[in-house]
Amino acid sequence: ATASEDNDLVIIGGGVAGYVAAIKAGQEGMKVTCIEKRGTLGGTCLNVGCIPSKSLLNNSHLYHQILHDTKNRGIEVGDVKLNLANFMKAKDTAVNGLTKGVEFLLKKNGVEYLKGEGAFVNENEIRVALNDGGETTVRGKNILIATGSEATPFPGLEIDEKRVVTSTGALSLEKIPESMIVVGGGIIGLEMASVWSRLGSKVTVVEFLGQIGGPGMDSEIAKAAQKLLKKQGIEFKLNTKVVSGDTSSDKVKLDVDSAKGGKPESLDAEVVLVAIGRRPYTGNLGLENIGMELDERGRVIIDSEYRTKIPHIRCVGDATFGPMLAHKAEEEAVAVVEYIKKGYGHVNYGCIPSVMYTYPEVAWVGQTEQDLKAQKIPYRVGTFPFSANSRAKTNMDTEGLVKMIADPETDRLLGVHIIGPNAGEMIAEGTLALEYGASTEDIARTCHAHPTLAEAFKEAAMATHAKAIHF
Ligand code: FAD
Ligand code: NAD
Repeated sequence: ATASEDNDLVIIGGGVAGYVAAIKAGQEGMKVTCIEKRGTLGGTCLNVGCIPSKSLLNNSHLYHQILHDTKNRGIEVGDVKLNLANFMKAKDTAVNGLTKGVEFLLKKNGVEYLKGEGAFVNENEIRVALNDGGETTVRGKNILIATGSEATPFPGLEIDEKRVVTSTGALSLEKIPESMIVVGGGIIGLEMASVWSRLGSKVTVVEFLGQIGGPGMDSEIAKAAQKLLKKQGIEFKLNTKVVSGDTSSDKVKLDVDSAKGGKPESLDAEVVLVAIGRRPYTGNLGLENIGMELDERGRVIIDSEYRTKIPHIRCVGDATFGPMLAHKAEEEAVAVVEYIKKGYGHVNYGCIPSVMYTYPEVAWVGQTEQDLKAQKIPYRVGTFPFSANSRAKTNMDTEGLVKMIADPETDRLLGVHIIGPNAGEMIAEGTLALEYGASTEDIARTCHAHPTLAEAFKEAAMATHAKAIHF
C-alpha cells in the first residue's frame, strides 16, 4: 500500500489515541496511514508525559528513600550522590525503548507511518508537510483526528522551558533548582512538585481552589494527600490565584492574590512550573478548510460514535471531550475503529480510573462522596486504613486508606478511592468490580492472598457492607 492510494483510514496524530487506532485498524485488515509530526510515535504520553514523569517519580522516590528511610530498616548506606545527567538518561532510555516499540508495532500491523504535519485540504484529502522536506497528499475514506493537547499557557508569563516551564521543561531541567513554584495543584503540579522536592528543591504549590488534586479527587483523600505531601516538605498555598509574573530579575517573581479576598502577596523562585491544565491541540490542521466546529474550550465536537458533523471524520483522545488520560484515549481508539469497521463500539465513561503517582499514590474510580452529595444520591461509606494491614506493616509503609462508596439499598459499588502504597495497581481491582456491577459483599466474599496490600481492599468492602475483621 502506498500513501497516495485511497486509505480505509487516515489518522492525524501518532499519540496514544492515534497509534492504538492504527494498530487496531491494521489488525482489522484496514489500509491505514498514520501521520505524526513529532519525529517519534507515542505522543505526549510516551515522549513528554506519562512515561518520562513515571521514570523521574520512581527514581526520585528511590533516591529519597535511600536518603531518609533506610536506618529504621536496619540498612546503613554510605555516601549517596545523585547524578542528574544519568538520572535523566534512565528516563530517556525508557522513552526511546517504548517509542521505538510502537514504531515496530505499526510496521508489524501493516500501517503506513508518515513523519510530517498533516492538514485538511478538503473533506477527503490531507496534505502532509514531510519532516524530511517536500510534501505529499493522502486520501482517506475515513479520517481520524487524534492531535491531542498542549499545556495551557498563563497569560503574561512567557514559557521559555528553562525558568518558566511547562511539564515538558520540568521533565528535563539540567540542574536541581534551589526553589520552585508550581502554579496549579492538579496532577501534573503534584507529580512534578514531588520529583523536584525529593531531589532537594524547596517547592511551593499555589492552587486556586481550596483542594489539591484537580477535578475528580475525593475531598477526604485530597486532604490526606496534602497532609502527607506537606510532611515531605512541599508547601501549599490554597485558595490563591496567581495574578501576574515578572521574569526580569534573576528569580521569577509572582504576584498572588487570595481567592477569598485576603491580602496580595509576592513570591519568587528560581523556576516556575505552569501546570494549570491542558487544552486541545488542533493548530495548523486546516480545520477552516472543512468548516469544522470546536466548542468554547477548543474541543472537536463529536457524537457518541466519535463522528464530527462530517460523518467520515472522527475524533478521539485529548482533542475532544472527556478526561485527558492516556487509557481513556486508548479505549476510545479501539472503540472508534470498531464503529468504523463493525458499526458498534463501547467505552464506559463512568468507569475510567485515575492515578496520581505521588508518594503515596492516590487512585480512584467511579463517583466521589462530594459528587453523590451534590446529586443528593444516598450512599454508604466503608474505609480501611493501611496501618491495620499486615503487609503494609511489614513494609513499614502504613500511611493511607481504602475508601469504598456503595448504594445503601442494593450495596452496588459506586466508587473506590485509595491513598496508599501501590494504590495505582490496586485500583484495577476496583475498576473491574465497578465495570462488572459488583456489590461490596461480592468483593468482601472474594478470597484475597495473605499478606497482601490488596487485603485492605477486601476489608474496606467488608467495612462497607458489614464490618472489617482487622479494624
Ligand atoms: P497526544 O499524546 O498529545 O498525541 C497527539 C499527537 O499528535 C502528538 O504527538 C502530536 O505531535 C501529533 N500531532 C498534532 N497535530 C498534528 C498534525 N497536524 N500532524 C501530525 N501530527 C500531529 N495520562 C495518563 O493516563 N497517565 C499518566 O500518568 C499521565 N501522565 C502525564 C504526565 C504529563 C506531564 C502530561 C503532560 C500528561 C500526562 N498524561 C497522563 C496525559 C496523557 O499524556 C494524554 O492524555 C495522552 O497523551 C492523550 O493522547 P492523545 O493521543 O489524544 O494525544
Ligand atoms: P488539572 O486540571 O488536573 O489541574 C490544574 C489545577 O490548576 C487545578 O487544580 C486548577 O484549579 C489550578 N489552577 C488553574 N488556574 C490557576 C491559577 N491561575 N492559579 C492557581 N491555580 C490554578 O491539570 P494539570 O495538572 O495541568 O494536568 C493536565 C491534564 O493532564 C489533566 O487532565 C490530567 O489528568 C492529565 N495528567 C494525568 C496524569 C496522571 O494520570 N497521572 C499525570 C499528569 C497529567
